[in-house]
Amino acid sequence: MDKDIYASVVVDQAHPSIDRHFDYIVPEELMGDYLVGKRVLVPFGISNKAIKAYVLKVSNYTQLPHNRLKSIIKVLDKEPVLSERAIPLIYWMKEKCHCMLIDAINAFVPPGIRKNTRPNRPKMVHLKILDGLDAYMEQVGKRSRYMADILDVLYKNDGDLPLNIISGDTGAPASSFNGLVKRGLIDIYEGQPDIANFSDMHGQKCELPELTVEQKEALDIIRNTIAKGKSNILLHGVTGSGKTEVYMRAVGDIVAKGKQAIILVPEISLTPQTISRFKMRFGNRVAVLHSRLSDGERAFEWKRILHGEVDMVVGVRSAVFAPFKNLGIIIIDEAHDDSYKSEGRPRYHAVDVAKERCNLEESVLVIGTATPSIEQYYDMTKGEYTLVEMKNRVDKRRMPPVEVVDMRDELIKGNRTMFSQALYISIKEVLDRREQAILLLNRRGYAQFVSCRSCGWVAKCKRCDVSLTYHADGRILKCHYCGRRYRYPYVCPNCGSHFIKQFGVGTQRLEEQLSKMFPDVRTVRMDMDTTSTKDAHEKILAAFRRGEYDILLGTQMIAKGLDFPNVTLVGVITADTSLNLPEYKSAEKTFQLVTQVAGRTGRGDRGGKVIVQSYEPNHYAIEYASHHDYEAFYKKEINLREQFLYPPFSNIIKILIIGDVEKDTIELSHRISEWLVKNIDNDIILKNGLISIGANPAPIDKIDNRYRWQVLIKIRPDAMFDGVYHCLVDRCIEEFGNKEQNVIIDFYPVSLL
Ligand code: ADP
Ligand code: ZN
Ligand code: ZN
Repeated sequence: MDKDIYASVVVDQAHPSIDRHFDYIVPEELMGDYLVGKRVLVPFGISNKAIKAYVLKVSNYTQLPHNRLKSIIKVLDKEPVLSERAIPLIYWMKEKCHCMLIDAINAFVPPGIRKNTRPNRPKMVHLKILDGLDAYMEQVGKRSRYMADILDVLYKNDGDLPLNIISGDTGAPASSFNGLVKRGLIDIYEGQPDIANFSDMHGQKCELPELTVEQKEALDIIRNTIAKGKSNILLHGVTGSGKTEVYMRAVGDIVAKGKQAIILVPEISLTPQTISRFKMRFGNRVAVLHSRLSDGERAFEWKRILHGEVDMVVGVRSAVFAPFKNLGIIIIDEAHDDSYKSEGRPRYHAVDVAKERCNLEESVLVIGTATPSIEQYYDMTKGEYTLVEMKNRVDKRRMPPVEVVDMRDELIKGNRTMFSQALYISIKEVLDRREQAILLLNRRGYAQFVSCRSCGWVAKCKRCDVSLTYHADGRILKCHYCGRRYRYPYVCPNCGSHFIKQFGVGTQRLEEQLSKMFPDVRTVRMDMDTTSTKDAHEKILAAFRRGEYDILLGTQMIAKGLDFPNVTLVGVITADTSLNLPEYKSAEKTFQLVTQVAGRTGRGDRGGKVIVQSYEPNHYAIEYASHHDYEAFYKKEINLREQFLYPPFSNIIKILIIGDVEKDTIELSHRISEWLVKNIDNDIILKNGLISIGANPAPIDKIDNRYRWQVLIKIRPDAMFDGVYHCLVDRCIEEFGNKEQNVIIDFYPVSLL
């Protein structure tokens, strides 16, 4: 009788040709060891080079003949780096995300663990002084604004916070922290915050707030669902309805049962405020996973999770892989956000992974948002989520009134500025009352494009085939896709005329116009041009929060996640930019944008209003967003999607073909689509699944001298068709893909741009 034991391993090398299991004999001295999830060294290939591999399975059966079997050399881990529960999810990812097994494994094992970086504790900052803090703040504030900011953030957020979260929020350099340490105002330490630091500071704040009626109802439904076991919940609540409080109560229930929780937030929302809300409630049993952690710090937090030293993690997208052993709930805030989709390796959507993980681990999934994506809401109507609604803001504050201004009327009235009369008056009022305003214009630079009025020539990037944007600083033309700069054409290169004119407005011009119309106004601009340096983004927001500026203006960067009590006016300079994107989601994006900016105002006690300017003010996305009417928007949009067979009434597979030579790129695209068409024609299932297929230039068909075409395959929305189509496309890529990685497939594209 054969009593050998075999381990199925995946080697730590990313290559499609070895993207599978390899079986090895477990030598006798290792038989007592629990190997699943551990790393081992195995002899590999003809040369028998020793390489690292992950054990995914141990059994006493192998298909390999005995003479071809080799033995494991040694075990590298004392404890598994992959939990047994992760393994089915790894297979699921391979199939769903079309990644290699090793890519999926790498999603679960952070780089610091893979490279055996020494885990180091994230540095924490502790505020030592409470009495007379104001005086200290004033005193150090005279020397350094940053020092005062650090104290302020610590005070407002009740206690100890990770150092890099504070520096991220305030933009403060290390010297400011050191200055405060020298003055004896703060301590910096590595390790666990003392639980006492969280409870004593503002004793009264630690009492749980009395829930609103809507919060109670929402929580009741969530509790009932939790009691029933695994299930998915869509928490559709307007901005400011108190969703976070509901999340925290649900998490409290889960923790009381001895289970753990994952709370995902978009990168931009992972602020000291968010973290401290959880830390104040749950003390040091909270891990934080954000993108500013070093490999060692991430490894440290990851180990705390693995060893059960924390009950929950608050983190960004990748925290969905946190190695909890007894997961009770995953909460995803702002679940519609595109940042939950990974565009790297592996290409996964955190909401999909969370759903599958909850399904496998019998946990509850709660996705919360004020603007569910059309697909998410549709899934809810089909029974995939239980709907929980919160329609009112906490304290019964009204949703801010949204005024839509028809810019065509302004033109008729002779107003050629970028400010409608209504917006102009409102800005003036805000400035008079010493409040603050946010102005959004989804286009950076000064002018959108530059063109010759005699012959119609438009300045375009030679390498990208997009029009160049005029930047007033330095009088240059910039390409927003490849970054190349061009000299300003004073003379038309086409006809020699001098009538070169700038068209369209960008954020630079908006800033210039503002200071012309309101001479004393203090403005700060936030777009890709002003936030290219590290922490620039945070510095701008911190300065605005401090009241150093009256108006924050910028691109959609400013639309999300900001919470400024002194902002009483939000203006959208033109809602038409996102409305006219060449993409089926443009209405949805516009609706989300207007709803989100509307949520940014009126958070304080002073209320607020929103002004949206548009040349298409009657567009349903703008109209429904201005009435805060999600359902009406959804009804209209879902009908259109059905009519034109867009998702969720189809699934789209995007194959992007990139090449240096235009002719070859076009040819390859056609060859790919012809190959697909031929194979689809020959197969009855594929034929039934197809809605349409075609090769076309990508919306931007040249970036950085590389041509871009795409093949879009629209298929019927059915898991069966997904399966056969995904196989077909995989085969197609084997046929046509090459080393230069010039064929990129996205099976679940969040955007067709
Ligand atoms: P959302 O996440 O839905 O936008 P938040 O959870 O951020 O809303 O809540 C908005 C504000 O209301 C926060 O400042 C929060 O502390 C406060 N809040 C939430 N629930 C209550 C409550 N039951 N009583 C008083 N204040 C609350
Ligand atoms: Zn010309
Ligand atoms: Zn370019």
